[in-house]
Amino acid sequence: MHTTMREFRDRAAKFGLDRAECTDCGRMNDPTAELCYHCGGDAFEDVTLSPRGEVQTYVVQHALPETFDTPLPIAIVETPEGGKVLGMFTEADEPHSVAIGDTVTIELKRFDRQDGQVLYEPKFRLDGGSSA
Ligand SMILES: [Zn+2]
Repeated sequence: MHTTMREFRDRAAKFGLDRAECTDCGRMNDPTAELCYHCGGDAFEDVTLSPRGEVQTYVVQHALPETFDTPLPIAIVETPEGGKVLGMFTEADEPHSVAIGDTVTIELKRFDRQDGQVLYEPKFRLDGGSSA
């Protein structure tokens, strides 16, 4: 069974920054995981990731619907707990100033409601504010 992009996005939106930390290997999994994706362990502790992290990789998206300001950086950020979060930048005045290793604040923005549950998507803001 494969996951559609919509299912992936909705699942991530429900989880927000909640993860399940494997008590065997210490790595992060979705909160619904029954077995660790990394080592196969079956014991977890609930963890809420810190709303901060470091850019691991990114792309600058130029082709998006008109409702988006482009160019728009989209990144994978790793938190101090080792959790990875995929998201867009909020206010990227200088999208090409984003670099691997930059530190960001992660904000959860409400974007939809599904079956009575509010869905959130993570957005990143470069630390240090805007360079005037
Ligand atoms: Zn594990």
